[in-house]
Amino acid sequence: MLLTDCHTHTEISPDSQAALSAMCRRAQELHLQAYAVTDHIELCRWYSQGYYQTMPRNEEDFFDYAARWERSVQQNLLARDLLAGKMQLINGIELGEPNADFGLAQSLYQDKRLDFVIASLHELPDQLDFYFLDYQKENPDALLEDYFSILLEISRKNCFDVLGHVTYPLRYIAGEAGIKINMQKYTDMLAECFRNVIHQHKGIELNTSGYRQKYGRPFPDEDLLKLYRDLGGKILTLGSDAHQPADLGGGIAQGQELARSCGFDQICYFLHHEPHFIKL
Ligand SMILES: [Zn+2]
Ligand SMILES: [Zn+2]
Repeated sequence: MLLTDCHTHTEISPDSQAALSAMCRRAQELHLQAYAVTDHIELCRWYSQGYYQTMPRNEEDFFDYAARWERSVQQNLLARDLLAGKMQLINGIELGEPNADFGLAQSLYQDKRLDFVIASLHELPDQLDFYFLDYQKENPDALLEDYFSILLEISRKNCFDVLGHVTYPLRYIAGEAGIKINMQKYTDMLAECFRNVIHQHKGIELNTSGYRQKYGRPFPDEDLLKLYRDLGGKILTLGSDAHQPADLGGGIAQGQELARSCGFDQICYFLHHEPHFIKL
């Protein structure tokens, strides 16, 4: 039985065309106990184009996420009321690049209408999303070193409930480009990151999108999930990162199994930034 899906997108995200109504229908078919809508809000592009005095870096470089923020919060509130008594809809956001403006990130996190914030890092400062990089030309280890050091900075801030897909660059470096990475080098940084999260009574997510991608594994994979557990991590959300109804709940069954095998006996969802536990 699928319990929750706490990382999903709708057409408010530039990379999704899914209507929230269609996503909700699918979530009800799956009998999810909790379903979080977490559209992309990229903090490096919060303001309109004029503010940045720059041209879009490519055709997928969008500005004015402030407007999307308001649309998303309103859309989810409406849907939550419509579904009341039938399914728990969680009003969430995937807050990308909070390091672009930690002050703003922390104040957005305080928005009382929100239940849940996933903090994600999709790109390094002044670079494109890892999705767009050419790994034959880049130095993957240098990129990962920068990525994990920024993630470490984020883990110290009070601007999220869970850290999203903590090994995101591996989707492209290891998955798409097929480059072997020795993750041992980053274990200390990730352990410190997890300690910060635990100390703040926050959590991480097990993002199951990798199961249906070339990478074939979740973000993070077993070793890091065990490390988080061994350090005392208890707050774990599961999310498919679905951008269309067909992917909703994708990999969640495997994720639940993996979490159990790594020593978790419960998973979480968030309401008003408070963790609620469900037995695995
Ligand atoms: Zn993401
Ligand atoms: Zn996402």
